[in-house]
Amino acid sequence: MSNVIDGKAVSAAVLEECRAEVGQLKADGITPGLAVVLVGEDPASKIYVGSKVRTCGDLGLHSRKIELSAETTQDELLRVVEELNADPAIHGILVQSPPPPHIDEEAIVRAIDPRKDVDGFHPENVAKLVLEDQSAFVPCTPAGCMRLLEEAGVETKGANAVVIGRSMIVGKPMALLLMAKGSDATVTVAHSRSRDLPAICRGADIVIAAVGRPEMVTADWVRDGAVVIDVGINRVDDASKKRGYRLTGDVAYDEVAPKCSAITPVPGGVGPMTIAMLMKNTLKAARQLG
Ligand code: NAD
Repeated sequence: MSNVIDGKAVSAAVLEECRAEVGQLKADGITPGLAVVLVGEDPASKIYVGSKVRTCGDLGLHSRKIELSAETTQDELLRVVEELNADPAIHGILVQSPPPPHIDEEAIVRAIDPRKDVDGFHPENVAKLVLEDQSAFVPCTPAGCMRLLEEAGVETKGANAVVIGRSMIVGKPMALLLMAKGSDATVTVAHSRSRDLPAICRGADIVIAAVGRPEMVTADWVRDGAVVIDVGINRVDDASKKRGYRLTGDVAYDEVAPKCSAITPVPGGVGPMTIAMLMKNTLKAARQLG
C-alpha cells in the first residue's frame, strides 16, 4: 500500500461534498457567494484568485472578482470591504495576500465582517479557534492538513506532533487544531529560534513542516513510521525545466518518504486542499448568515 497521501484526490472529494451542500443551500433559498479582492498585479496572486473564482463557478457559487490597481489607497480598499460587508449576496470575503506594501494588511483583515471572514484571520475567529468554538472559520491550509490526516487514518490522540513554523496562517492554527479536544495530540511548536530542531523532530509521530525552506527536513530528522505533512511551497532553480524552476516542499521527499508511514508530496499534497477548505468555509458562512 502506498504511503503517499493524495491531496488532489482528497481535495476532489471535499469539492464534491461542497457541490452537494451548494445544492442543499440553494434548495433552502440561499445562493452562497464569495468575493475575492485582488490589489495589484502580483502574477502568483492573479493565478490564485483566478482558480478560486473558477472553483466557485464550477460548484455553482456566486462569485465576485474585484481587481484594483496597485495604487489603490488604504481608504479605498476599506470602502470596498465595507461595501462587501453590507452586500447580502456575499457570504465570504477574501483579500488576496500579499497586498502592496503601502496597505496595512492587518487593518484590512480587521475591517472584514468576522461572519464573512472565510480565511479565518480576523481576531474574532482566531479567538474562537482558541476557545474551540465550532462557529469559527479555521484558516484553510491547516484545516486542509487536518482533513488529510483524517483521510489517511492517522491517529492524533496522544501522538507527539511537531509543527515547524509559527505563522498566523499555518503554524499557530495548525498547533491549535492538533491540540484541540478530539485531536488530542501533544504539540510542540518549533520556529527559527528553536534549538536542535532535528532532535525535536526525531521525537515526533507527526511532523508538520510550514517553514518555506526547500528540503530542510532530511531523513535523519524523521523517525521510522512517522507521518509527515509538507506545507512548504518553494521555487528552486532547475535548468532542466521549461519554466526554469521546480516546486519543492520543506521536506527532502525522496529520502524522507521511505521512512514514513504516510507523507504528502509537493505538489499534489497540501496545496490542493487550501481552495477546497475555502469553499467549505464559504458554505459555512452562507449557512450561518442564512
Ligand atoms: P512564514 O514565513 O509566515 O512563516 C515561516 C515560519 O517558519 C516562521 O514561524 C519561522 O519562525 C519559521 N522558520 C523560518 N526559518 C526556520 C528555521 N530555519 N527553522 C525553523 N523554523 C523556521 O510562512 P507561512 O506563511 O507559514 O508559510 C510557510 C510555507 O508554507 C511557505 O513555503 C508557504 O509558501 C507555504 N504555504 C503553503 C500553503 C498551501 O496552500 N500549501 C499555504 C500557505 C503557505
